[in-house]
Amino acid sequence: MQVEGTNTQKELNPLANAERQFDEAASRLNLPEGIREIIKRPRRATIQSLPIHMDDGSFKVFIGYRVQHSITRGPAKGGIRFHPDVTLEEVSALAAWMTWKCAVVNIPFGGGKGGIACDPTKMSKGELERLTRRYAADLSDLFGPEKDVPAPDVNTNEQVMAWFMDTYSMHERRTETAVVTGKPLEIGGSLGRREATGRGLLMCVREACRHLNLPLAGARVAVQGFGNVGSVSADLMAKDGAKIVAAADASGGIHNPDGLAVPELLRWTTDHRGVAGFPGSTPLTSSIIEYDCDILVPAALENQIRADNADRVKTRIVAEGANGPTTPDADKILEKNGVFVIPDILCNSGGVTVSYFEWVQNRMGFYWPEDEVNQRLEQTMVPAFRDVLAKSVEHKVNMRVAAFMVAIERVVKVIMLRGVYA
Ligand code: NAD
Repeated sequence: MQVEGTNTQKELNPLANAERQFDEAASRLNLPEGIREIIKRPRRATIQSLPIHMDDGSFKVFIGYRVQHSITRGPAKGGIRFHPDVTLEEVSALAAWMTWKCAVVNIPFGGGKGGIACDPTKMSKGELERLTRRYAADLSDLFGPEKDVPAPDVNTNEQVMAWFMDTYSMHERRTETAVVTGKPLEIGGSLGRREATGRGLLMCVREACRHLNLPLAGARVAVQGFGNVGSVSADLMAKDGAKIVAAADASGGIHNPDGLAVPELLRWTTDHRGVAGFPGSTPLTSSIIEYDCDILVPAALENQIRADNADRVKTRIVAEGANGPTTPDADKILEKNGVFVIPDILCNSGGVTVSYFEWVQNRMGFYWPEDEVNQRLEQTMVPAFRDVLAKSVEHKVNMRVAAFMVAIERVVKVIMLRGVYA
């Protein structure tokens, strides 16, 4: 899939960015001829028209997508996004990143992603339930614990996963919990899943600090996005002694160079639907991306660090909680300025890792205590970080290129063992 457009459009196009990241790493590997093209392209992409009965009695047709980028290492795995801007290109990029993410942490999944172009803020709970059920039913042949296992993403949550699981189960005539992850605990969710992405991020940050000789205790941290990933990361880093000096979300940005009281901020955010106005803080007057700190955690949206602001980033470490927060052009600038970037496919992979644990527990019908989940998460994240760091040192490349190299090698190894049925 070739992506056209102006330079700025291109810089902000997630599929173009995912392809550039892949190409840069793949060109450093001596891949067997033709294999590069096979692993770069999505295996299958589906577009659906989903007619929904709206509350006012009318019908409305929504467009849904599911892209299976790869099933080479196991079932396709990846979330479902509900957002007005969802496009096939965006879903394709997110699906490819899932393939490389699962390979970096070495869990037996391929990569997939789904989405529906809709604005959930303007829909009732009943409309969202009907939309979810129609999506799940329409593609019920495609999904399955051995085939394609969705999860929550932007604007989808445990409730959406519960509706999805129920719809699939009804069509199968039996309860099948392992068809989705990120479910409520009562129907097969895993302890530790909610905190998993932030906890995995913390584990990566600890390793990065060790590597850079930067004590995490006392380090100044700025967090963009105070939702699931951002708030849990901030909380866990503060418990390790870091000082959370700035936070921003859709409500605005705040800071306090002496450190924000994180437990109170978490409560405030829940009660006031955002960080803005938190007592003991001052509003930020410029973007949090440019805040002077030791660790910057972009945990909101794509394309936050770009060619036009990367030179003003004043941090030692960027820990990518979000998917695709840094464009490839910005990556070059950060590298030149000596900023250590822990790339998304490694840094936020704690979520899919515990999703894998949830799928394993569903299939065993035996559930682990939270400390076992967290211990196994650490046993997955720390070796993954060290594999990527070793590759980065060996090939003198940044951590993103190294992470893609590790991931691509793992996928190619499996292809070579299985052979190409061509
Ligand atoms: P969330 O909906 O819980 O939180 C998103 C946060 O971003 C909110 O605090 C929101 O206010 C904030 N935000 C939105 N627009 C903003 C803006 N313009 N400026 C600053 N903040 C803004 O979502 P989440 O689950 O925390 O996911 C955040 C990112 O992490 C997404 O890119 C997602 O794909 C990625 N991610 C999430 C997980 C997971 O397990 N939840 C796993 C891997 C990657």
